[in-house]
Amino acid sequence: MHGLMMDNPLLISSIVEHADINFPDREIVSVTNDGSLHRYTYKDCFIRVRKLANALGKLGLKEGDRIATMAWNDNRHLEAYYAIGGAGYVCHTINPRLFPEQIIYMINHAEDRWLMIDPLFVPLIEKISPEIPNVEGYILMGDDNDIAENCKLKNLVSYESLINEESDNFEWPNLDEKAAVGLCYTSGTTGDPKGVLYNHRSTILHAMALIAPDAMNLSNKDCVLPVVPLFHVNSWGSPYGAMMVGAKIVYPGSKMADGETLYSLTEQEGVTLALGVPTVWLALLQYADQNDKKLNSLQRTIIGGAAVPESMIRDFHSKHDVFVQQAWGMTEMSPLGTVISLKYGMENISHGDLVELQVKQGRGMFGVEMRIVNDEQEILPWDGEAFGALQVKGPWVCSDYYKLDGAAGSHTDDGWFDTGDVAKIDPLGYMQITDRTKDVIKSGGEWISSIEIENTAMGHPGVAEAAVIGIESEKWTERPLLIAVKAEGRDVSKEDILKFFVGKIAKWWIPDDVVFTEEIPHTATGKIKKTALRDQFSSYKASE
Ligand code: AMP
Repeated sequence: MHGLMMDNPLLISSIVEHADINFPDREIVSVTNDGSLHRYTYKDCFIRVRKLANALGKLGLKEGDRIATMAWNDNRHLEAYYAIGGAGYVCHTINPRLFPEQIIYMINHAEDRWLMIDPLFVPLIEKISPEIPNVEGYILMGDDNDIAENCKLKNLVSYESLINEESDNFEWPNLDEKAAVGLCYTSGTTGDPKGVLYNHRSTILHAMALIAPDAMNLSNKDCVLPVVPLFHVNSWGSPYGAMMVGAKIVYPGSKMADGETLYSLTEQEGVTLALGVPTVWLALLQYADQNDKKLNSLQRTIIGGAAVPESMIRDFHSKHDVFVQQAWGMTEMSPLGTVISLKYGMENISHGDLVELQVKQGRGMFGVEMRIVNDEQEILPWDGEAFGALQVKGPWVCSDYYKLDGAAGSHTDDGWFDTGDVAKIDPLGYMQITDRTKDVIKSGGEWISSIEIENTAMGHPGVAEAAVIGIESEKWTERPLLIAVKAEGRDVSKEDILKFFVGKIAKWWIPDDVVFTEEIPHTATGKIKKTALRDQFSSYKASE
């Protein structure tokens, strides 16, 4: 017997409708490309969202078509999220920090029909445009003055001229809640980037979990500064969660890692909650330190994407009275999996014990099931000692990658997603990452493929074998170190090898150092034994 409840689909357009009525005067502030602040209200935002939805409808797109965005965190990017997804298309957010080859791959793989680009990325897109012939046109996220006279992009129209004459009435389509709404590629594993395809239902459920008291505890009274990019897992779902509750939103534009901008935005706008990876907070803390400034309005930061150093937790607390909530998740998980929050009975926890808790990745929330397993897939106890492969399940965890049909081998036979992280879980349910099985390095919140660096290094005639591991870095969390065995009879230097990388891999992927060794350890199956190398170089420090 079915219950007698209304069957309203969970759609992101319902956030627009709710927020438009309930929080019309709430502000959204963005740093623009010329450094000035753009300020408007939710009401103004939604007028433009509906205009854009009308304009997109005239481009001959059909439901489910992909429209890509390449932009920083600002109001136009936010508008694009709601107009594209709400109108039934799929918003494919592209990370501009990836190399051109990866961007070309993603655009072609996603079969993007139109690209919405920030003027700052025009030179990059002009260069790759011959390689993305199926893109029908480009929307420049600015006005006509931002279009350079000699711009080579076909069917280029400015965002402002596109929406200018449009009606601000738009009837949101009554979509299937399982219809795709967003697409984000992760380059966090080896091989080509893999597309994670979110649907309306997963997006709404994730946002509801995100705003809950024991998660981000987001409310109408908050002012949120999402420094995590809108092109990285939907800025951790913040556009949806923040607008559900009507929080003020402050976007740093392209000034994502500029301590001074982050500080002044936080102070001027009264930011209470900030979201980002450890690297950006290091910039903010350093700026505050060097200029003898205190963060006055900020109450808490959600820090994730990489392990949060204990010193950062302590600095935020002792110098700024800010509570650090470490969170863990993945692109494949929308992204939120665990977050630090106190349990009952912990009200009088000592400061030392609290910090010990905060360095963990957090505890699970309703909606994400977690388990750790050993190599035989046996489930391990939550005793704070046993560690194993961390697997998850839930309505906002991907069931597969876009167009891969199981080929990635990322899911177990009994339907769990293998995260590639190794973890232990204590009896209270706090999870702590101890290692990674995936062979990648995360530097400043962005992935570096160790295998790609190794393959490039092996292309040098003086290198017989190469292995790349991540070494600890205060600023970037991890940096790549190349360990190489010289080819017989070749006398190759560190400088030769570093020079060899130039032009072959992105500049920031080039290892900080090269160490020559006689032999690289291998597993029984002949794979490089990264764990042994990580142990061997555990005290190796990256030059900052
Ligand atoms: P991404 O899909 O780019 O968000 O990367 C997800 C991966 O980043 C996870 O599988 C972890 O390896 C790593 N990660 C995310 N959050 C944390 C955290 N709080 N501590 C340590 N590693 C993290």
